[in-house]
Amino acid sequence: MNSPIELKPTLLIVDGMPSSIAVLSACLQDDYHVLSTTNGHSALEIATQALPELILLDVIMGELDGYTVYEQLKANPITLHIPVIFVSSLLEAADEERAFALGAVDYITKPISRPLLLARVRSHILQKINNDKLLAFAQELSQKELEADKSKRLLNAVLDAIPIRVFWKDPDSRYLGCNRHFANDNGVDSSEDIKGRTDFDLMPERAFALQAFAHSVISTGQSLLNQEGAITTHDGKLTHISLNHVPLLATDGSVIGIVGAYEDITQRKNTFDALQDAKIKLETKLEEIEALQDKLLEAAIRDPLTGLYNRRYLTETLDIMLAQATRNDMQLRAVMIDIDHFKAVNDTHGHATGDEALKYLAQFLATQSRTSDIVCRLGGEEFLILMMGATAENAQIKVDKYREDFANLTISHQQKIINLTFSAGIATYPQHTENSKTLLEYSDLALYVSKHNGRNRVSIFTL
Ligand code: GH3
Ligand code: MG
Ligand code: MG
Repeated sequence: MNSPIELKPTLLIVDGMPSSIAVLSACLQDDYHVLSTTNGHSALEIATQALPELILLDVIMGELDGYTVYEQLKANPITLHIPVIFVSSLLEAADEERAFALGAVDYITKPISRPLLLARVRSHILQKINNDKLLAFAQELSQKELEADKSKRLLNAVLDAIPIRVFWKDPDSRYLGCNRHFANDNGVDSSEDIKGRTDFDLMPERAFALQAFAHSVISTGQSLLNQEGAITTHDGKLTHISLNHVPLLATDGSVIGIVGAYEDITQRKNTFDALQDAKIKLETKLEEIEALQDKLLEAAIRDPLTGLYNRRYLTETLDIMLAQATRNDMQLRAVMIDIDHFKAVNDTHGHATGDEALKYLAQFLATQSRTSDIVCRLGGEEFLILMMGATAENAQIKVDKYREDFANLTISHQQKIINLTFSAGIATYPQHTENSKTLLEYSDLALYVSKHNGRNRVSIFTL
């Protein structure tokens, strides 16, 4: 357990006469931790080390008198604040005045009155303790101020270093401060110059919108984030920004202001717009390419002279058609058609008229056939019709009707009148063959029979 003496204030008695020290100690030792010396030099040493709350200092001593000791105590910053009461048997007013003039807190004359001594000592010690507290508080305060100033500087340095514009406003939407970028945007030198201004001073054209944001945040206590807009900076540059407003809350939750921050997104927006443009152009190009591809695809399966499907298309489609016929339990007929004595048309009327005749027959077959029929030009003056579902009899009647109608047609081209006939051969799937290639060969064989039998006729393949 600690000695209670440790909790008592410390007192230093400096007196040339040991008997005086004994008297004073006897009065004070119950309430104070009493140190004493008869020597001025050792008094200074004890004071420096023990830092007593109070010194009772005798004026008359041997080597160093009380006044000199006092001056040295006051000259040392460590002992400067220790209050000193002069104790002396001198009764002269001049001594008392000198003591007070030096800065002594009190002056007591011997012989000592115990109650007076106790009262004065208590009062000065109390004062010293209070002074010490005050001093400590003042030191703490100035330390805190230093730290606050340091934090503020640090915060400002950070706020000035980031590329974001930051400002803060009071609940009336008046600016309280901002970072360097915000000040620059608004053509002012520092955060100080912004204080007390409103948006109507800084950005009159956007003031209503900005005040509306601020008002909303203050009245609802809710943040408004990522509001995109545009501002004109003081140098006339139109700047796209992304704006955030956050309420500044007191400890009780009430809104005491707003912190706002915005970012220059002009470059990002321009890049986005350019990308958007490029995307639209690319989409248009893709559509063009797709249309071109469709055309190319169409061209690849069409005969350029007549517009009918070509042999390639037939080859690609025939097996699919056969499978479809099987699925639907239908017959499929291949009708091979060849113009009779066509060479003579070219020879007599010229190639151009021959072409015209080919187009004529193509058109004739396309309009006569059903939409489910597929009409192709295989090459030269050879055509093929794929007929799905028709009975053998119907098919023959139908093709024979084509033949007859075509034979009765008169083709006129550049004042030339031509009459043409064609021969045809029909083979049937799956009756004659289940193979697509053989089906075409059989229809060709049947055509050959028609040619052989005098042309302008229709023959059915027979095995
Ligand atoms: P056949 O009755 O035996 O079929 O006699 P043909 O003269 O019709 O038959 P041939 O095979 O001897 O002659 C076919 C002719 O078709 C030869 C060629 O000059 C002509 N020809 C082929 N392709 C075209 C074309 O694209 N345009 C024109 N104008 N003539 C073509
Ligand atoms: Mg031919
Ligand atoms: Mg021919």
